[in-house]
Amino acid sequence: MYNSISHKRRKCFLVELRTADMAQNPETDPYSCEKRRKFHLRNVKGDLKTCGNYFIMKFLDLYERHQTKDIRAYMTEVLHCIFFLGNIHKLKIKPIEFFARDVGLQMKKMFPDPFEKYHTHLPTRTPFSILLDAIVRIKGSHNQKEVMDCLSTFLQDLKVPKPNSSTNKYWNHYTLEATVICICHYERTVVEKRDNFYGASLSCKGKDEQKIMISLSCLETWNAAVAHAVSLADNGGVIKLPQTVICRAFKRNWGTGRYYGEPPCSKCINIFQGASFEPCHRKTDKEPTWPYGHCAETESLSKLLNAEQALCQQVEILNNTTNLERDAVVHNAKNTLVSLLQGKNFVLNGNEFQFFAP
Ligand SMILES: [Zn+2]
Repeated sequence: MYNSISHKRRKCFLVELRTADMAQNPETDPYSCEKRRKFHLRNVKGDLKTCGNYFIMKFLDLYERHQTKDIRAYMTEVLHCIFFLGNIHKLKIKPIEFFARDVGLQMKKMFPDPFEKYHTHLPTRTPFSILLDAIVRIKGSHNQKEVMDCLSTFLQDLKVPKPNSSTNKYWNHYTLEATVICICHYERTVVEKRDNFYGASLSCKGKDEQKIMISLSCLETWNAAVAHAVSLADNGGVIKLPQTVICRAFKRNWGTGRYYGEPPCSKCINIFQGASFEPCHRKTDKEPTWPYGHCAETESLSKLLNAEQALCQQVEILNNTTNLERDAVVHNAKNTLVSLLQGKNFVLNGNEFQFFAP
């Protein structure tokens, strides 16, 4: 039986969450009282616990409005991924700590799996990527405007903290929002309604967290050709796509809350050759500071290739080899995961990994 959490209870969450956050938890607290207090003061508005709670409760709204099997699966996946990120965070957060008092227990009763598997099973994508998939499922992949409007509304309601106006950077905010989304499609000669494939840039903070998400995506989620290009980029891993592959990326403007066209970075241009990017790459742009695989183009191209077998066969592997070096990709990904998950209370079974399947 589905139990709804009342609107009034939900409105109380943040107040209770902040109060609960002030309390020390000796079992999970790696910092001294003073350090933690200062850290807390800096981060109270945008820390993972608050952002995670907002994201979960807003997603719960979406689930309550639709209540389908699909959206329930997405809800379960969001919970698992946020709990996983809490578990590997520098200030470890237990699943129950994302909620206030009885709400956590109620959520556990409604969605038991994520509460049990957050430290034994890996997620396959970020919470924002799950949200994007859920919205595309609800609105339909052809209705681009409706998908983007729905996403904007969700994010506005989330009240994602804005970046520092002078540096244009977040300071200590753990936002779960992806900065850029990308929509890919494949131009065919046959006249038929085309499918759009949506991807998000990596929406988790921390170098280790980002490396973990990229590695597990290479291992489990991304199309093998895309994983090859990302994983072996530093050693010349490059794929060539037909010109009929169209990638359009959009960045959300903090002021207006709307999405505007965003050119690809030089890393994407380098590893995903041949595709048509709109708007096109600007040579004057600075070298990106983010790792290969971080951009929205990766997820969106991967979904397109996974869906289009005929297109997959047209992808060329360039440089060192003409074959996909899947063994090297798997080896790289597993090594990174083993080394970064050690000491983070994640239960590893040798170098075999279990992935969360909602
Ligand atoms: Zn890029």
